[in-house]
Amino acid sequence: MQVHIELHLEANIPKDRANANEIFLEVTRVSKEAKEKIALAVIEAYEENIIEVLCDSNVPESKEGLGRHTRKGESKEWCQCRTFERAGYRSDKRRLRGNGFRIKFKPAMVKCLGCGKRFSPVLDALELKPYQGRTDELLQQVTEAIADTSYRRGSDQLEILGDVPVPKSTAHRWVATVHLPTNKSRGDPFLSTDGTGFHKQPGQRGNIRLVMEMGEKGGIHPLGVWAGTDWESIAEEVKNTRKDKWKLLNSDGERGIDKRMGPLAENLGRCQWHFARDSSFSLWKDGVPLDEREIIKDQLNKLISIEIPKKDIELVKSSDKEKLLQKIRTAENDILRLQEEFKEKGYIKAAVYLANARKKLFTHLKMWVDTGIIAPKTASLIENIIRELVRRLKKVGWNWSDAGAERIGRIVMIRRYDRDEWNEYWKKRMNLQNRCEIKLVYYAWWRAA
Ligand SMILES: [Zn+2]
Repeated sequence: MQVHIELHLEANIPKDRANANEIFLEVTRVSKEAKEKIALAVIEAYEENIIEVLCDSNVPESKEGLGRHTRKGESKEWCQCRTFERAGYRSDKRRLRGNGFRIKFKPAMVKCLGCGKRFSPVLDALELKPYQGRTDELLQQVTEAIADTSYRRGSDQLEILGDVPVPKSTAHRWVATVHLPTNKSRGDPFLSTDGTGFHKQPGQRGNIRLVMEMGEKGGIHPLGVWAGTDWESIAEEVKNTRKDKWKLLNSDGERGIDKRMGPLAENLGRCQWHFARDSSFSLWKDGVPLDEREIIKDQLNKLISIEIPKKDIELVKSSDKEKLLQKIRTAENDILRLQEEFKEKGYIKAAVYLANARKKLFTHLKMWVDTGIIAPKTASLIENIIRELVRRLKKVGWNWSDAGAERIGRIVMIRRYDRDEWNEYWKKRMNLQNRCEIKLVYYAWWRAA
């Protein structure tokens, strides 16, 4: 179908003097009005065409994809009948809001001659859900504004949308329909996980967990965010994002993570950055005084400070590789000795911590010797990311439930670190197939006499 739209504009400069600012501002104002009229014209013509096809046509093929409705009095059972008659207009106006302008129109109704149901076929044809009052392109704008928190704290409207402000409460209700799925793996070598607490509905504490993978040359790829979900279920979901295993899992060594997420990777890397700090914490729990703890901390930091040579692996002599492995063995033995010492002194918690950490501390070095791949040495990166995430949850400010925190967590992560996936989600959601094309075909002006 084709629609012809005529817009006749009139510009008045009564005293024959106007400056550029006045002209541009007026053009901006009137183009919003023009946008509304164009949208309305296209939708009303589209509707007329649909009604005509449904009520007057005897060619079943021309009705394909139109007039879908559930049987009168039923909520799930589809009616197979495709013969209709006109049934006037709805009494209430339908409001539809897009990015930058909104329209109001009264949808026409048809009556099914099979089941007797009255409904407006244009709404289904426009791919609108019942009660949907905004387009998905506006939803995308609003969701991006929330993800980027580009509105002032305490403000109750999203300012990014300029001339059509959206109240924050409305924006939150809309965004509740945006569920980003768990991402597919890119095949990166490293898996990184962390969890932290967040403030839930008044008085409650929840936990939020983040799983991402990292490439050899850096580059973060979030796989998912979960709230109130145990590591076992998370591991199950993450496992399904790829066929083989990650080379290395980097985490702070929380037992739940090691046990459930550990099997997803060939190696468990203990974060070196945590090592001295967490050993020190175990010693504190064992009642070791501060000055002794500080001395041990220094000792441990020296033990683990083995660096990967700066040269490319191909240029490193095998004798140098052997020397590196020897250094690792020495450090591991020193830690073992320290572990025994702790046991003798009755520092049981610290001894257990060392025993668990010892074999995992140098995984990244051993992996480099084996494969030449340089793993990220610390988990502080993911810790910073998850802390930033919680800060954003707080800034977006909501009465968080687990589901809400998870949803916004995913929105923030994917928007920020995976723009392709973000765009992909919206493209799919908007179901864009270039099915409408509008062009300006004629333009002329003349001065009134
Ligand atoms: Zn019917």
